[in-house]
Amino acid sequence: MADPPFRVLPRLTPLNRHFWTGGEHGELRFLRCESCARYVHPPSPVCPECLGKDLAPAAVSGRATVATFTLNYQPWVPSPDHPYAIAIVEIDEQPDLRLMTNIVHCPAESVRIGMPVRVVFEHQRDVWFPLFEPADA
Ligand SMILES: [Zn+2]
Repeated sequence: MADPPFRVLPRLTPLNRHFWTGGEHGELRFLRCESCARYVHPPSPVCPECLGKDLAPAAVSGRATVATFTLNYQPWVPSPDHPYAIAIVEIDEQPDLRLMTNIVHCPAESVRIGMPVRVVFEHQRDVWFPLFEPADA
């Protein structure tokens, strides 16, 4: 198996650990407000909608849509795969719940805005990076 691509590992904190380790259980997790049911990302101790302070991790389906993307052709970091697609995906459960990620398991040139995608996880040390692949892959 090839080495996983170089990625800067996030520092895990009590506030973000659910997000970076949910993949161990195959789950994409976001903080969700117990008061108004809104998903909050990036993680925050306070709900921006209702200012509630009772937020707990909750798993979503992992289905999303490509909201926008760019193709990177520059070898900024050691990686066997150029170009690759850097995308912002919108999670199906909530229209403004967005995540920056990579689209994988397809030619980068085939990525399109509005493309349905689903989460896959790339495990590196204590982190499971949520990446997305075409939903029909
Ligand atoms: Zn709320």
